[in-house]
Amino acid sequence: VREDHFHKGVSKICISVRKRPVSSKERAKKDHDSITCANPHVHVHSAKLKVDGITKYLDNNSFRFDHSFDETETTQDVYKYTTMPLVDFVCAGKGGRATCFAYGQTGSGKTYTMGGIQVMVAEDIYMLLGEGSGCRDDDTVVTVSMFELYGGRCQDLLNDRTRLKILEDGKGEVVVTGLEEYQASDPGDFLTLVDAGNRNRTTHATEANDTSSRSHAVLQIHLRDKATGRLKGKLSLVDLAGSERGSDTKSHNRQRRTESSEINKSLLALKECIRALDNGGGQQHVPYRASKLTLVLKDCFTSPLARTAMIATVSPGASACDHTLNTLRYADRVK
Ligand code: ADP
Ligand code: MG
Repeated sequence: VREDHFHKGVSKICISVRKRPVSSKERAKKDHDSITCANPHVHVHSAKLKVDGITKYLDNNSFRFDHSFDETETTQDVYKYTTMPLVDFVCAGKGGRATCFAYGQTGSGKTYTMGGIQVMVAEDIYMLLGEGSGCRDDDTVVTVSMFELYGGRCQDLLNDRTRLKILEDGKGEVVVTGLEEYQASDPGDFLTLVDAGNRNRTTHATEANDTSSRSHAVLQIHLRDKATGRLKGKLSLVDLAGSERGSDTKSHNRQRRTESSEINKSLLALKECIRALDNGGGQQHVPYRASKLTLVLKDCFTSPLARTAMIATVSPGASACDHTLNTLRYADRVK
């Protein structure tokens, strides 16, 4: 039985790890499985030895999180313990700001996980609105916006990649000027929009220098009062840039270097902003101005009604061990 402080609202942050299955490519290369998830622990075995028929692990590294999900668990399982509590929280209609991040190395399953979660969120939001506890169908509109942060630029994924400006106004409110919010009145509407946004990203991902691994993609779902437009709840789902990109600061290519340092900056700032949440938020310094990513999510870190889930995704292969350890150490420090 998984403990569930997050669902009960005792804890404001939930840090989980998801391991993906070994791919056929990895199997062909005999890249052996070096990760074990025994909820809520994750073990990294850099080297395996068989002595007298007993498997021994050398250089063992173990971590404990709120949850860990192994390759046999579905996105539905991951959703249930990470994002579903956030959907409930946002639909209560009290102005809650919830954010779910997928963090990890390129190829570890961030987009796969987020893609599934988007579908489940679509179903659950309208179901909850229909049930009418908190936000109700008849007085609430759901709007969707999607944008991408790439090398310090912000572009609208639902509006021809229009360049957007992120500004903090005199009242301390952060606005993304020009960002479109589209109304979605049922799960079908919602997913049509989200699919279009996702496609707008992946078109670029097929180019030689995969931009999707160097960009953060943000999907925001707003619940607004039908009459006044007042925000009753907001859920942000963020597919982060590949965590390995942040360390690529020695590249000979100048643009690459700039991108890498931007990614590095944003992932470091993100860690600090999430950590500040569990220490009461408001009181202490939240370094949200340190990057575009954290600036645009300011209210998600500074609101007294903020909750965050992070899903750190890892590849199972021994060849990815260094990146996997970096991911686990990062997630461990967020707690
Ligand atoms: P990322 O977005 O982190 O770069 P992807 O989500 O694109 O990684 O995943 C890389 C590959 O692994 C894709 O082909 C994806 O379908 C597959 N994959 C990822 N996670 C899983 C999973 N849990 N089960 C099955 N296949 C997965
Ligand atoms: Mg991806």
